[in-house]
Parts: sequence; C-alpha cells; structure tokens
Amino acid sequence: SKVSGMFDMRKLFKSTWSRLVLLAAITLAVTSVARLVYSSMVWNNNVRQITELNLRTLHRAEAAVDYAVDTLASLQLSGLVSCDAKALEEIRRISFLRGSIKDIQVLDASHGLLCAGGQISRQLGVANFDFSEMYAARDENIFFHDITRNNSGILGVARHIDAETTFLAVLNLDSLLFGIFPEAVRNHARADLVMGGEVEVASQIPDGVNDQDVASFKEFRAVSDRYPLEVVFTLDADILRTWNRDAQRFVDDFSLVLGLLLGWMALVKLAQPRSLYRRMKDALRRREFVPFMQPTFSVEGRRIIGCEVLARWVQADGTIVPPHKFIPFAEDNGLIVPMTRMIIRAALEQLREQMKADKDFKVAFNVVPSDLLSDRFEKDLVQIVQEVGVARRQIVIEITERQEFADQEKARSAIARLRELGFRVALDDTGVGHNGLSNVHLLGADIIKIDKIFVDRVGVDASATTIVQMLVRLARELGMRTVAEGIETEEQLAHLVRCDVDEGQGYLISRPVPVGEFLGVLAQNRNADRSARPEADGAGESETVAA
Ligand code: C2E
Ligand code: CA
Ligand code: CA
Repeated sequence: SKVSGMFDMRKLFKSTWSRLVLLAAITLAVTSVARLVYSSMVWNNNVRQITELNLRTLHRAEAAVDYAVDTLASLQLSGLVSCDAKALEEIRRISFLRGSIKDIQVLDASHGLLCAGGQISRQLGVANFDFSEMYAARDENIFFHDITRNNSGILGVARHIDAETTFLAVLNLDSLLFGIFPEAVRNHARADLVMGGEVEVASQIPDGVNDQDVASFKEFRAVSDRYPLEVVFTLDADILRTWNRDAQRFVDDFSLVLGLLLGWMALVKLAQPRSLYRRMKDALRRREFVPFMQPTFSVEGRRIIGCEVLARWVQADGTIVPPHKFIPFAEDNGLIVPMTRMIIRAALEQLREQMKADKDFKVAFNVVPSDLLSDRFEKDLVQIVQEVGVARRQIVIEITERQEFADQEKARSAIARLRELGFRVALDDTGVGHNGLSNVHLLGADIIKIDKIFVDRVGVDASATTIVQMLVRLARELGMRTVAEGIETEEQLAHLVRCDVDEGQGYLISRPVPVGEFLGVLAQNRNADRSARPEADGAGESETVAA
C-alpha cells in the first residue's frame, strides 16, 4: 500500500550512502530527461526548418515554370506562332532578357524543330530533342520534357498551340537549387528536382560526401500540385541532431543544477518526520485509535456500573500515545470526527455482550463540542448504535465544559435532542471552565462529572469540599446524578461518600485499560460484590479491586 511504501522509503534511505545513491539517481534522471527533451526539440525544430526550405525551393521552381508558361501564352496571344523574322526577334529578345528561359523553339507536328531563338541551341545539341517521355501538367496544354537526359538542370516546357505547332521553352533551373542550404547543412545534404516522380532534372550533390559514410538519411519531399515536379532533400540524419544545438551546454549545466536541487529536496523531505496530520490519517486507516475503558462505580458499594471510554493511539511499535497529544490537534483539523466514530463503534462492539447481559451497564464517550454541534454527530451516533445493536439508554455522551460553547443555544438543543433520542448526557469537567456553574441548569444534562482538581483536594482544602457539596446539591435540585473523577485514595473516596456523590472513577479502582483487561476487572468486581453481600453490613467494606 501507499502507507507501507512511504515507510519503506524512509527505511530504505536511512544510511548516508543510500542517500547519496538517491541523490545521484535523481540527478541522473533529471539530466537524462532534460537531454532527451532538448534533443527532441532540436530535432523537431530542424525538421521544421528543412521542410520549409524544401517547400520554398519547390515554390521557386514553380515560379520559374509559371514564368515560362506565361511567356509562351503571351507569345501565342500576340500571334507570334510562326518562324517569321518578327517572331524570331521577339523570341530572341525574351531569351536574352528572361533569366531561366534559355531558348524558345517552335516545333512542328512531329516535334521537329522549325526554328529556335538561339542558334546556340542547335550547336549545344539542345535541339531536336527526344520527346518520347512527357509529363502532363494540370493545364492540359502544357507538357514537361526531360530534354537533355543528363541531369543538367535543363528541362523543356511545351505548350501545344494547335495540331501543327508546339512552343517549347528551354529552362535552366539549376541555379535555383544552389545556395538554399545554410552553411552548416550544405555539406551533408543533397537536393534534387525530380520530374514526373522519376527523372532527376537537377541535383545538388555535396562534394566529398559518400553515401556509404552516412548511417541514416532522412528524406524531405515537396510535391507540386500544378506541375509534374517535386523537390527532394536527402539529409544525413546526424545533421538534424547536431544543427542548431548551441544550447546543449546550457541545458546540461542547468539540468545538473536542477537535478541536484531536486535530489537535495527529496533528501530533505525524507529527513523530515512525517507531519502529525499524515501520521494520524494513516493511523485512522490502520485503526490505531483504540478505546480504553475505565470503570465507573457506585461510591458506596464500589460496584462497577459502567465505564468511560478513553481514546488511546496504539502505534505500530507498541507506543501508546495519550489523548492530550492528539485530541486537540484532531479537533483543529477535523480528524476528530472519523476518530470519534471509530472509537465509539469499536467500544460498543467490544462491550456489546456486557451491555446486553447487564441492562444497567452504561458506557460513556467523550465528544468535543465542535463535533456535538455539527449536524452529523447525532445521525452518526444513531446509526452506529443501531448497527451494533445496543440500547441508547445505556450510552452516555460526555461534553466538556472546559471551553465555552460558541453557541449556547445550539448546544442546549443538541443535548435536548440526544436525550429525546434516549441517550444520556454528562457535563464533563463541570466548574473548571470559565462558565462557573451558571450553565449547568441551562444545558439540561443527566449527569455532572466532578473534576479531578476538586477530588484531589476534597477533605484537604475546605473550599474544594464546599465545591463538591455544592455540585452535589445542584445535581439533586436539577434531578441529575454526580460522578467524581480521578479518585486515587481511600481517603478521597471516604470524603466523597460523605459528600453524597453517586458514582466514582479513578485509579483507586482501575486505570483506563483495554477491553480484555477491563472485562477482567469487571468480573473480579462482580465476584467481590457477591461474596461481600452476605455480610452486607455497610458500604466501603468490600474489597478494593485494583488493576
Ligand atoms: P477526561 O474526559 O476528563 O477523562 C478523565 C481523564 O482522567 C483521563 O485521562 C483518565 O485517564 C484520567 N484519570 C482517571 N482517573 C484518574 C486518576 O485516578 N488519576 C489520574 N491522575 N488520572 C485519572 P486521559 O485518558 O489521559 O484523557 C484525557 C482527556 O482526553 C480526557 O479527559 C478527555 O477530555 C480527552 N479524551 C480522552 N479520550 C477521548 C475521546 O475519545 N474523545 C474526546 N473528544 N476526548 C477524549
Ligand atoms: Ca470524560
Ligand atoms: Ca473530566
């Protein structure tokens, strides 16, 4: 589980060297991830850049062809479709002026040369071409021809005028392909202008680079949708990895620092004890909050008539944490609610048989005011009691008077509702808080608990005795019972009997103990009670049952 995982982590990284290993591992992980991320950024960026260059090259080739196609169209429109002097002069003018157009020729029906702008065409052998291979453009009057078949950058763009006549523009696109690659890429990249998907019309091949030298290539391809042309770049894949990688140093240094920082933070985190909150949450999950029980007994007969349930946090290593170390904190952060439910359910389940066997046996629970005043408490209590299957009248809810109730009226009505439902309510720590005794009658409880601070000094200090007497009288008047807490000595007990207190609780009879021990104390008490009864000649004679 997550919990044990957490524990293992702390145990695992206890020694110095294991912590160093953790630090190294985190640093290594961070630097590796940073490297990977940076590599993929560089790669993607380079791919994007090359793709753009590729497309731009194609556009330039297309633009040159557009120019030639326009030129042929305008020649036709001007009526210059013959080989007369005027037409030839215009053709020569165009060939001279227009960059990539090297010549314009007029061909007959069988593609024989009728005339050409430049004599030079014929001399260079760029006339009477082989027209067997032609590639159609989107415009159905336009055809492309590989007229030189030697990858010279020369290509022919033909325009069919009529059945008798064809215009042919001889283009040189070679220069277009030069100089597009940035310096760093140039020697590792090849560029081809491909016609009809098969014929290389023009190529730029870097010097001194042998195909065999390169482990892997990446190909970029931009295809024209108007003309049977495409531009293909073939790149050494290494270039895509290394080009534009200037920030590598920075990334390495930065990720090293980041990795060390994160590793250090992990170590700090491991060194910290887990927060009390986390530990309590885990404790709840593992049911480490356990009900201990302390008997309540009649001060006269010392007969155990019930118990108070007191929470203990029994940790995995056996340490028992007392309630003052976690109850106030749990109240602040709300964990008191699930904790109280857990304690109540567990205690009732453990005492169910006893409660059924003895219908007068009472079990008291402590509930913090904030919980009592929430709407959930009453519902939860009713549900738990019903699910466990015990009687409500055997359950006492102790409410501390120590802190002032934020809302006196709400407290009063919460108590009233609990009593209507059949539960009993005890005022804990009565007279200790700031309220004095003024609230006792307003809150309307069944039981007044007389605090240990008065019990400690009863019979020693006159004012303590007076307070105990007052509390007892107040209880009588309001029809309440009294329970004196923290009785440690026989003297105290004797004084409390004299003060007419009803019930007692204290180390004199038993400390709070787990259920097994409690049932043992209870059984002993019942036996003593039975054996004492025949001689029943007075209270206080039966044997003390101490744990
Ligand atoms: P409390 O409700 O006034 O409980 C009585 C306290 O007095 C208990 O302390 C009990 O162990 C102690 N005590 C009883 N007899 C003697 C005695 O003869 N001598 C001495 N020295 N002490 C005695 P504990 O169990 O440590 O509980 C302390 C307080 O924590 C309780 O005071 C109660 O306010 C709170 N508490 C305990 N369990 C719970 C719980 O489940 N829920 C809530 N909300 N509060 C709890
Ligand atoms: Ca109590
Ligand atoms: Ca108390």
